[in-house]
Amino acid sequence: MNLSQLANPRILDQPVYQPGKPIEQVAREHGFTPEDVCKLASNENPWGSSTTAIEAGKVALESVYLYPEGSGQALREKLGQYHTLDGSQFILGNGSNEIIELLGHVFLNPEDEVLVGEHAFVVYKLVALLMGADVIETEMPRLTHDLDAMKKAITDRTKLIFLPSPNNPTGTANSTEEISAFVRSLPEHVLFCLDEAYAEYLDDPFDLRPFIAEGRKVLGLRTFSKIHGLAGLRIGYGYGSPEMIGLLQQARQPFNANSVAQASAIGALEDRDWVDLCRRRNQAGLDQVSAGCARLGLEVVPSQANFLLVKVGNGRTFFEQLQARGFITRPMSESLNEYLRISIGTEEQNERLLKALGIVMQEGSANL
Ligand SMILES: *Cc1c(COP(=O)(O)O)cnc(C)c1O
Repeated sequence: MNLSQLANPRILDQPVYQPGKPIEQVAREHGFTPEDVCKLASNENPWGSSTTAIEAGKVALESVYLYPEGSGQALREKLGQYHTLDGSQFILGNGSNEIIELLGHVFLNPEDEVLVGEHAFVVYKLVALLMGADVIETEMPRLTHDLDAMKKAITDRTKLIFLPSPNNPTGTANSTEEISAFVRSLPEHVLFCLDEAYAEYLDDPFDLRPFIAEGRKVLGLRTFSKIHGLAGLRIGYGYGSPEMIGLLQQARQPFNANSVAQASAIGALEDRDWVDLCRRRNQAGLDQVSAGCARLGLEVVPSQANFLLVKVGNGRTFFEQLQARGFITRPMSESLNEYLRISIGTEEQNERLLKALGIVMQEGSANL
């Protein structure tokens, strides 16, 4: 009997998440120094993290021989002040991805249906499959979540609906009116998870708090990986009713959020100026890259996040040719294979990227 025969059969069929390539690997493969490689593949903050967050992390590093405070009390209280909710309404995760998995552990059984958009962030689907639930995908006309289609797809077996707004990889968001009406229309047996990984990039993000206060079965997800620039520390959180959070806490490992991450996250929340500055710079970067793509005759999907989906034709080829020039971008799966996802970089990175895109296009047409 071989080892895989002993494995849970679900694991053998489980698709694997493809992360963006690390800088060091691309440098090694193509003979660059790491400084020459420009990573625009994982929607990180190109300006880095706030110095307040870094300093707080350094202080916490002195005490890493100690386990973190189990429930992340200090950060949860800080989050309570930030969102005007109670500390008991927050759960910390090793990235918000861990909270997506906790949702699966707490609520999903085989036979349950998880409803997602066809081009939604892929982790929802991976978690649903891992739990043996069925994934129901609805169409996304104009690459935007169609909440009417999602409403129509609800059955007696629907347990959990994920809505990322803005969504990754499309960058599209749903309006406050649409989301409000959708949440109010959900039947009793359905949970709603709003993934707000890019909410800080919106001028007017959706406010889930009134729905929590009305007792609806909702959970908001946020992360410190994107605008806060702490992706390497792995810290995110969920917020909802004390009852919802209590159930999720039951499924969590004792020290899932590390002490350095917790301290840095508190520092990040204290530095609102940094977040505002990065939001403005990102908007300028979106304008810069969109305009540059238009000059090259490339269509982009209008984005409300910190990346752009660019229609290049053959995404895989462009990905490889850009990578050979030291730019790491993100090719898409089959259903979006004409597109490349490109994270917004610094002004200088964006300029270099656009130049490289132009060269790749020229060489492509020369080869025809
Ligand atoms: C990046 C991202 C996350 C958060 O990931 P972390 O685990 O917190 O790093 C969640 N949802 C979406 C849609 C994302 O793009």
